[in-house]
Amino acid sequence: MTDEELFKKADAVRREVFGIKVYIRGLIEVSNYCKNNCFYCGIRGENRAAARYRLSKEQILACCAQGYELGFRTFVFQGGEDGGFTDGQMCDIISAVKNKCGGAAVTLSLGEKTREVYKAFRDAGADRYLLRHEAADEAYYKKVHPAGMSLENRKRCLWDLKELGYKIGTGFMVGLPGQTDEHLREDFRFMKELEPDMIGIGPFLAHRDTPYAKEHNGDLYKTLRVVAWARILFPHALIPATTALITLHPNGRALGLKAGANVVMPNLSPVETRKLYELYDNKAATGAESAEGFAKLKREVAAAGYEIVSAVGHAKGRGQFR
Ligand code: SAH
Repeated sequence: MTDEELFKKADAVRREVFGIKVYIRGLIEVSNYCKNNCFYCGIRGENRAAARYRLSKEQILACCAQGYELGFRTFVFQGGEDGGFTDGQMCDIISAVKNKCGGAAVTLSLGEKTREVYKAFRDAGADRYLLRHEAADEAYYKKVHPAGMSLENRKRCLWDLKELGYKIGTGFMVGLPGQTDEHLREDFRFMKELEPDMIGIGPFLAHRDTPYAKEHNGDLYKTLRVVAWARILFPHALIPATTALITLHPNGRALGLKAGANVVMPNLSPVETRKLYELYDNKAATGAESAEGFAKLKREVAAAGYEIVSAVGHAKGRGQFR
């Protein structure tokens, strides 16, 4: 199959299940403190060059209020594994947003926690959780993470989240140093087992202050092919055109949508902190990627042949939707 045929097939699957709808999720990067040291990530704890920040409850609420005004009905709180946010504070923020932004969903992407903490977040009102498994091949997972992190715990988290009633998202990077096609096949095998509601796939992009500073970025078309396969194999999944894809190529968003993606996640973080949440070099966070650029985003998505909708856009999951 040529790339073009593959993308066409993925697009047909997507249109059959979702039509031309593109769901929007407002991304709020709540903190870049992190206790972990993933080799690929720019906010790894050992990166002394990173200027650290943590948003206050007031700042987070203000970001959500601005997004709500624009029509966002899902807010994604993403951050490093920051011990400075107590679990109680996070619960308080979650319930405040759920109260103030009627009908909105709260998605968390705060890394690995205990089941008890996930339960507390869920009880506070969190609806969904994004936790990419990163690499489902045990030996390869170990290669790209420091000792002390394990695939086993990552998987435990995902199963706990699912059992607690979250809609769950997982995923991985394409083109991470040393990654082979067999590793990617293992990623798909694991996802078939897990049945995630959301799948995030983006290219690996090097960050200058990490052990992978000199490594090559992931390939655009390879990433698009993997996105297309995700759409074909998981017809009902919510699949974003990721920020990394958009950073890799100026037309990345439209290409991602045409390869089967049906979600975009513009950045609603305060302008001052956006550049500090630097997972990789040159992260796209302005223009159509931002709250300010929402009109532009709508035009770009329309030009690609799709339509942004404000709906909360819950996962349609496992065949029982609509
Ligand atoms: N601490 C949270 C959020 C991590 S950042 C967690 O552990 O889930 C969100 C995602 O960005 C990660 O899951 C990873 O897949 C991706 N990411 C990190 N560094 C990256 C890089 N250098 N290039 C591309 N994507 C990266």
